[in-house]
Amino acid sequence: DTIGANLDRAVAAWPDREALVDVPSGRRWTYAQFAADVDELAYALLASGVVKGDRVGIWAINCPEWVLVQYATARIGAIMVNINPAYRTHEVEYVLNQAGVGLLFASLGHKTSDYRAMVEQVRGRCPQLRETVFIGDSGWEALIARGTPVPYEELSCDDPINIQYTSGTTGFPKGATLSHHNILNNGYFVGESIAYDEQDRICIPVPFYHCFGMVMGNLAATSHGACMVIPAPSFDPAATLRAVQQERCTSLYGVPTMFIAELNLPDFAAYDLSSLRTGIMAGSPCPVEVMKRVVAEMHMAEVSICYGMTETSPVSLQTRRDDDLEHRTATVGRVLPHIEVKVVDPATGVTQPRGTAGELCTRGYSVMLGYWNEPQKTGEAVDSGRWMHTGDLATMREDGYVEIVGRIKDMIIRGGENIYPREIEEFLYSHPKIADVQVVGVPHERYGEEVLACVIPRDPADPPTLDDVRAFCEGQLAHFKIPSRVQVLDAFPMTVSGKVRKVELRQKYAV
Ligand code: ATP
Ligand code: MG
Repeated sequence: DTIGANLDRAVAAWPDREALVDVPSGRRWTYAQFAADVDELAYALLASGVVKGDRVGIWAINCPEWVLVQYATARIGAIMVNINPAYRTHEVEYVLNQAGVGLLFASLGHKTSDYRAMVEQVRGRCPQLRETVFIGDSGWEALIARGTPVPYEELSCDDPINIQYTSGTTGFPKGATLSHHNILNNGYFVGESIAYDEQDRICIPVPFYHCFGMVMGNLAATSHGACMVIPAPSFDPAATLRAVQQERCTSLYGVPTMFIAELNLPDFAAYDLSSLRTGIMAGSPCPVEVMKRVVAEMHMAEVSICYGMTETSPVSLQTRRDDDLEHRTATVGRVLPHIEVKVVDPATGVTQPRGTAGELCTRGYSVMLGYWNEPQKTGEAVDSGRWMHTGDLATMREDGYVEIVGRIKDMIIRGGENIYPREIEEFLYSHPKIADVQVVGVPHERYGEEVLACVIPRDPADPPTLDDVRAFCEGQLAHFKIPSRVQVLDAFPMTVSGKVRKVELRQKYAV
């Protein structure tokens, strides 16, 4: 199916159910109203000369118009290019030119970001950019006024309709080109694992620019008649819990750091979260202690862990409703329908026996068409058998559940010993003085690398010392895993999708 045809089906089945709620502005759409506004915008795009295959950029914080642009571009077969709202002029110029964006939708401004001023600065250096429409400005109304209803062109579900850039956790983001077939199916199957239906209301505090928001959120919702709830333009823990309470949300999304921020709110206990039953936690590993609190104190007994990457639409592995706490904390679940996974020896490519770690590879409908205009990088990531090489180390258990060990790039090699940061992080997370922790390898003359623990203290006035940390690990972890340095921080460098940029920690504290 195409995304447009899928929306038609939603409107036919649930015309009067709520599709979209924007909590900050109080605006609401039923499925019928939502589809009508999508059509209006699609006609306006056609009237502005946008044709199938043209690239339409969106550089915006979360707002209802983001979702309208997503569906309107898919309706007419234009390729939507998601641009990270945290980007500044240098990066946005790169993406606009790399993807050849002709029409750009942008927010006016948010917090310290003045998008209008930034567009003004780069416009002259982006020869293909014909027009910019600012959301919430008179230009939006003027655009809509141009449109007249016309029949839509026939589209194929294998056409590209989206370029999504990766988070940029390990380096410069790469633009994954995705089809209707790729992302619509993935949104649908993710929603199936959670058993979404038209009663569900999904609170989406994760950015729409990333696949977590626009596929696991928006496409999972509309393919099941559920409602998308926008709590705030960018992540705000208090606004998120307020939206869950006000809108009686049944599902809440986030990366582990977002759940940690919500649980740590001083007035956490004052929110009524009893409407929640499920949610998705993805993007990076979740500490066991956090998972226990999410289940017990946020009522999310069925919370689902997803593993995926932008290049695979994104989700390949997911826990199911009836999985127990052990499977939900130690593993990322089982493979989704119509997707294959294998674990290979990164050096030889030979499939590893169950229980042995290796590089995770995935194959199926979800693998991207390729990186936009970067055939060489595509060739390095997707092999001739159409297997996507994820760059993640994983183990397939006997029971078919997969454990993620960590990124190949994050593995620390100290004096010939392979050390996986996650294991040490899990352990240090239980230290009473530590609120959050990241472990990285930094260069060392004698051992090649040594273990550095970057910690955010619970009480900034009483941070843990190196001696505290070492004494805590003594007798519990092998000597080579015990951190030889501790760095106290008040925050970690993050991507907008909420992941810690270990690469920055490594560089900054390399000494
Ligand atoms: P870049 O590729 O630009 O360095 P990125 O890999 O973070 O950035 P994404 O596509 O957003 O970009 O993220 C995919 C990666 O996130 C996976 O390869 C994996 O390392 C990590 N990841 C995703 N889900 C999980 C999870 N549930 N547990 C552990 N790691 C996860
Ligand atoms: Mg990646």
